[in-house]
Amino acid sequence: MAVKSRKDEFFDELETMSKSEREDYLNRNLARTVAHAYRHAPAVKKFFDQVGVWPGDIRTVKDLEKLPIIRKTDLLEMQKGGLPYGGILGIPREDVERVFVSPGPIYEIQPDRIKWFAKSFWAAGFRKGDVVINTFTYHMSPAGILFHEAIRDCGATVVVAGTGNTDLQIQVMKDLGVTGFVGTPSFLMTVIKRAEERGLDIKHDLRLQRAWFTGEMLPPSLRKTFEGDYGIDTYQAYAVTEPGGAIAYECRQKNGMHLMDEYVTEIVDPETGKQLGPGEVGEIVTTQLQNEDWGLIRFGTGDLSSYVAETCSCGRTAPRITGIVGRAGDAVKVRGMFVVARQAEQAIMGFTQASKYQLVVGRRQHRDEMTLKIELKDAGADRARLSDDINQKFQDVCRIKIDRIEFVGLGTIGDNQPGIVDERKWE
Ligand SMILES: [Zn+2]
Repeated sequence: MAVKSRKDEFFDELETMSKSEREDYLNRNLARTVAHAYRHAPAVKKFFDQVGVWPGDIRTVKDLEKLPIIRKTDLLEMQKGGLPYGGILGIPREDVERVFVSPGPIYEIQPDRIKWFAKSFWAAGFRKGDVVINTFTYHMSPAGILFHEAIRDCGATVVVAGTGNTDLQIQVMKDLGVTGFVGTPSFLMTVIKRAEERGLDIKHDLRLQRAWFTGEMLPPSLRKTFEGDYGIDTYQAYAVTEPGGAIAYECRQKNGMHLMDEYVTEIVDPETGKQLGPGEVGEIVTTQLQNEDWGLIRFGTGDLSSYVAETCSCGRTAPRITGIVGRAGDAVKVRGMFVVARQAEQAIMGFTQASKYQLVVGRRQHRDEMTLKIELKDAGADRARLSDDINQKFQDVCRIKIDRIEFVGLGTIGDNQPGIVDERKWE
C-alpha cells in the first residue's frame, strides 16, 4: 500500500516526536501522573511513603528507579486487603466506566474510552472500508472491547465474534467478506486449516488481507506461511492486561515493536529494578500516563525483552522492543546478563548436528562460569569448528560467551532435563 500522506501513515504527531520532544513529553506526563496518583490513591501514597519518595522526586523517567516494581502478586495482595481496587483507584468509584476481571481475580478499571489505542491498528493498515473480525473474548477481559473500539477508531467495521466457534467464524468471514483478522496467530492458523478441510481456497474464497496479532509470539516461519502462502499481511502488538492496552506495536517495517508514548516503558534488571541500555535483556516494566486515575506505577509484566533506539525507516521515532524472549522466571543471570532459556535454545538448536543440550551455570573464583553440555547426532562432526560456531552464535543471540563446551555421549542428558541449570551456591 502506497503512503498517500503523513496523515495516512501516522495516527498522531506523537509517533514522530524528536528525541528531546519525547523525553520532555514523557517526563512531563509522568510527573503529572505520579502527583495525581499520590494525592488520590491511598495505596500509591503508602508505596511512596514506605520507600521515602515524594512525588516531587519523580521528574524524569530515570527517577522511576527510586520506586519499587509492582508485580501481579502485589496487586492481588493489595486488592485482597482492600477490595474492590486495593487503594489504587484515583477517582470516585461511581466515575468508573468499566471493570475488567483478570485471573486472580484482579480487578482493573477504565475510567474513559481510550482513543490512542487505535494507533497500533492504524500502523497495521486498518482503515474505513475494512471489515474486521475480532476473535478476542468480550467476557471479563479487556481484550475484546478495547480492540473493538480501536478498530472502530480506524474507521473499520467490526464483526463481534469473540472466541471459539471456528466453523461459524469461517462462514461469517466468507459471507461478510471479512478483510481483517484480530486474534492470536494460532487461532488464525486453526481457522485456515479448518476452512481448507471444508474445501475453501483461502486466497479466492475469502477476502482476508491483513491480520493483527497479540497474546502470542508470531514465529517467523508462521509469518512466512500467512504472508507467502495465503497473502495475509501480518502485524504484531505487545499488550498487557493490567494497565490495559497494547504498549508496543509493529509498523510496516516489522523490525520490532514501537513503544507507545502513552506509557513509560522501561526495560529493567528484574532483581535491582535498574534501567538497562539498548540491546540488554530485561523485564518490561510499564506505567500508563493517560490513565492517571489508575495508580499502577511501575508495573512489572514479567516478560523479558530488549530495545533498540535507532530511528525506524517508517518514520516513527519511538524506540522498539524486539519481541518477548521469555519470562523473568525462566532467565538466569550470568555475569550480569540474563540468559533466557528460549534464546539459548534458539542459538544452540539452530545447529542441525546438535541433538540435546544443557547449560550449566557454576561459579569459580568469584566468577560465573557457563558450561554447555551437548549431545551430537553425528559423532564424527568437527568438534573444534562446531564449538567456535556455537559460541559465536550464542554470543550473537545471548550477548555472553560460553566458557566451556563439553561434548557428551548420546543419552547423557535426560529427556525432561531443564535447558539451563543454575548450580551456584550463594552463602
Ligand atoms: Zn517503524
